[in-house]
Amino acid sequence: DNVVTVIGGGLAGCEAAWQCAEQGVPVRLYEMRPVRPTPAHTTDRLAEIVCSNSFKSDEVNTAPHLLKEELRRARSLLIAVAEATRVPAGAALAIDRERFAAEVTARIAAHPRITVIREEVTRIPLDGVTIIATGPLTSDALAAEIQNLAGAEQLYFYDAIAPVVDAETINYEVVFRAARYGKGGDDYLNCPLNKEQYEAFVDALLAAECVAPKAFETDKAQYFEACLPIDVAVRRGRDTLRFGPMKPVGLCDPRTGREPYAAVQLRQENLMADSYSLVGFQNSVKWGAQKALLRMIPGLEQAEFLKFGQVHRNTYVNGPKLLTPTLQVKHEPRLFFAGQISGVEGYVESLATGLVAGRWAAALVQGKPLLPVPRASAIGSLLNYVAHCENNDYQPVNITFALLPPLAEPEARAYRRRPERRARQIALALAAFGEWLMAMEAGKSSSLAGEA
Ligand code: FAD
Repeated sequence: DNVVTVIGGGLAGCEAAWQCAEQGVPVRLYEMRPVRPTPAHTTDRLAEIVCSNSFKSDEVNTAPHLLKEELRRARSLLIAVAEATRVPAGAALAIDRERFAAEVTARIAAHPRITVIREEVTRIPLDGVTIIATGPLTSDALAAEIQNLAGAEQLYFYDAIAPVVDAETINYEVVFRAARYGKGGDDYLNCPLNKEQYEAFVDALLAAECVAPKAFETDKAQYFEACLPIDVAVRRGRDTLRFGPMKPVGLCDPRTGREPYAAVQLRQENLMADSYSLVGFQNSVKWGAQKALLRMIPGLEQAEFLKFGQVHRNTYVNGPKLLTPTLQVKHEPRLFFAGQISGVEGYVESLATGLVAGRWAAALVQGKPLLPVPRASAIGSLLNYVAHCENNDYQPVNITFALLPPLAEPEARAYRRRPERRARQIALALAAFGEWLMAMEAGKSSSLAGEA
């Protein structure tokens, strides 16, 4: 039939259902609550916000603002409801979570082309167009089905995120560029530590306050030994880090001519311009304490972090292995993933992937072309990362400027100062996104198709 099935009535699923229905295509939206609860949701409402009530900054010239601006232009239901239920929070878009969920539930229920079914889906329907948007707490039965479809190793159950540092804030007088044993080019920056610095770092890490895992996070959060959080590793012995992520072997500090006592390696992030991740530094130290701790590392004294380390329960697929830039499963193109499970992080990022998946699902049913979102836009950059990131240990991302394509010459030279550069990137993003929207709405092929 020509009905689109959306599984999961969370942020992504509601936006996807709405967009699809608004394009004229009927939708069956499955939500398992209240029949089967999740460990984090507490109501039976659709689009329930489980934690902070913030949709992040809405200040002009920021990446979260750009993402929301694209969503506004694409007539996102959830952003409109967020604005109608906002509470004062300075430059951030914060919402009244009760009114937000109640309003989304009412709007979805009242849509003539959406049927809400309160049922846990345990089988992936492959006889029509389907969007899986079951979120970070996807039910076990469906997770097993996704593993069957995608391969057990392509579905992850928790996140161990390493911090990411802004390249402009690294002290290049201290760090040195080298790969271990001089192999593999010079992709890494190395922060050398002497014995005193290492011991002080270990003491501070042992004393640092960590985020305690929630009860539901401990069941499946067995840490893979290969990516043990540093706050867990250090409790196995003071030298564990020196034989793990802080090992100095094969590195020679050009300033001393010797191997340092310990070292932290910074790796240029693939598809994340102007930033470096701290290799193997996933941790659950609270963010305030984490900033002070990481700034003890020589070379990072003044560092600004685009992302802090985190460890939490999450369910998400290996996007680059499984998905196309239009969020379709490569070997099952009538099946889409959207939301946190598609490999993005955050409320607004989740609903953004729902918006585009809903539009593409409608296009597929209507026989219209599925145009990828241009890379220059915020949504296009997120999807480019999801489909093309080359890391072995794929990690979901939030929107940041680092994901957007850097300006090409001669513009890069013309816009040297960061605020001007960003304003220019935003202008290019909105122009490209606007063209995509028009082309999608016209429903015919366009020159944008090959661009993403
Ligand atoms: P969800 O909003 O979780 O929606 C998925 C829906 O699918 C749920 O309603 C669920 O009941 C339903 N479902 C699951 N399995 C099935 C099934 N088999 N059949 C039918 N229905 C099913 N992001 C932030 O930006 N800020 C935060 O502060 C934040 N805090 C978080 C705290 C926790 C504890 C968690 C788990 C995540 C948090 N996130 C946060 C991350 C993420 O942005 C949110 O989880 C967001 O809700 C993801 O949207 P989603 O639509 O992908 O999933």
